[in-house]
Amino acid sequence: MRYFYPFSPPVYRPQPMRYVEPYYPVFPYSKSYNYYANYYRGSWTPLSWVEQYNYAFSGPANSANVALTFDDGPDATFTPQILDKLKKYGVKATFFLLGENMEKYPDLVRRIVAEGHVIGNHTYSHPNITTLSDQEFVAEMKKTDDLIFKMAGYRPRFFRPTYGAIDENKLRWATNQNMMVIQWTIDTLDWEGRSAEQINQMVNGNILPGSIILQHNADGVPLQGSVDSLDLFIPALLQKGTRFVTLPQMFGLPKDR
Ligand SMILES: [Zn+2]
Repeated sequence: MRYFYPFSPPVYRPQPMRYVEPYYPVFPYSKSYNYYANYYRGSWTPLSWVEQYNYAFSGPANSANVALTFDDGPDATFTPQILDKLKKYGVKATFFLLGENMEKYPDLVRRIVAEGHVIGNHTYSHPNITTLSDQEFVAEMKKTDDLIFKMAGYRPRFFRPTYGAIDENKLRWATNQNMMVIQWTIDTLDWEGRSAEQINQMVNGNILPGSIILQHNADGVPLQGSVDSLDLFIPALLQKGTRFVTLPQMFGLPKDR
């Protein structure tokens, strides 16, 4: 459904949700976008968790800060391009890295650190952690923590669960480890092979103060549109006074623990 306004809408107004395609059209039009979005991003979890644990879907909504986050890297194709573009715009981001990819591309890990970006833990081998025992989960976390300590020099404060899926035991463990568990506000669905313009619309149509944007950098995934979208939405948002900050800056926390 598209609404046409007889006059230009006021400028300072949240934009309506403007997704460019149905999300998971298993039964077309029988369920809303948000039904699937909430299911797949893990927000079936109780909202009260944000108060009981170190857990967030977005940052403070009363500042011009938004955060770019890139999951699953590093990779040989997209990570260097992303770093080049972030450097061009003077923007810092947070990279949730996989331990197994850090071992493949240690030089790229060092480049991410040298250029002022922040590294978070995204497990070692990208399992769905809700299917793991607590011991298996802790092993995945510690292995990646150790790699980040070895290559970046600190134990990361920020953790993003794979698929956004987490259960309470693991959330409690992360909180006891003094970690901050971060979901996202805007899922660009870039891994589906979306075009730069589709991702640009997704970001611009949904961004609000405090938004955390989810993109990916991974071998063998069609992410060129995702990389190219940075040239569309970063300059446009900078022009409006938006600040792109790292998660430690957004939450006023150290990057380490
Ligand atoms: Zn991931």
